[in-house]
Amino acid sequence: MNNLYLNRRAYQRRRNDRRRRQLRRRRNIALLLLIALTALLIFGIIKCSRGTQYPKGAICIDPGHGGDYTGAVYEGRQEKDDTLRISLEIQKILEKRGQKVLMTRDSDSNIGLKERTDLANQYESIVFVSIHRNSGAGKGVEIWVEHTAPEPDTQLAKAILANLNDVGIQADRGVKFGYRENNSDADYSVNRESEMPSCLVELGFMENELDNQMFDEHLKEYAEAIADGIIDTFHLEE
Ligand SMILES: [Zn+2]
Repeated sequence: MNNLYLNRRAYQRRRNDRRRRQLRRRRNIALLLLIALTALLIFGIIKCSRGTQYPKGAICIDPGHGGDYTGAVYEGRQEKDDTLRISLEIQKILEKRGQKVLMTRDSDSNIGLKERTDLANQYESIVFVSIHRNSGAGKGVEIWVEHTAPEPDTQLAKAILANLNDVGIQADRGVKFGYRENNSDADYSVNRESEMPSCLVELGFMENELDNQMFDEHLKEYAEAIADGIIDTFHLEE
């Protein structure tokens, strides 16, 4: 064996080592790029799905209660189901008419009062409408606005109530200010904490058979009445 041959073998070994190192480096770079791309893709998907779920500058519709919080209950009928049912209908109508809608919930989920207004505030909703059904003895519809009777909140409540009257309700209990029987400066949390015009709609009493019957029969018309009231009050383009 001569030296020349040995040298050539050593040279080839070094060259092979170098190639292997190069390949390994390229593979590592490709792997890193792949990880980065995957991360970007996942981040993008999350951002996108969030974006469609919580649009900015939208109409916020807040179906009262949900999950463990049933709201009023009467003979197996739960307020949280009624509020969700009609809220989804309102959402459908508003979206069909070209409006952006932010739902504080669109399923039977737990969501706190503060979370609801935080969401609307964070995504700069233009109006906040909370949907409820009343408890206790009584009949008919009432709408609550902050005790200071701000505008256009009061105008919105009046517009919605007038539209509901046109559809047909058992009794018009009027636009009310503050909290429960107008006897304090307190406000419903959703009205107090929302940084945009707001109102809380009480669509009939859970314990009143005729209110329930009218709610079921006029569900779509009631939803239309509420959607109309919002669009008209804020002169929203369709
Ligand atoms: Zn309620």
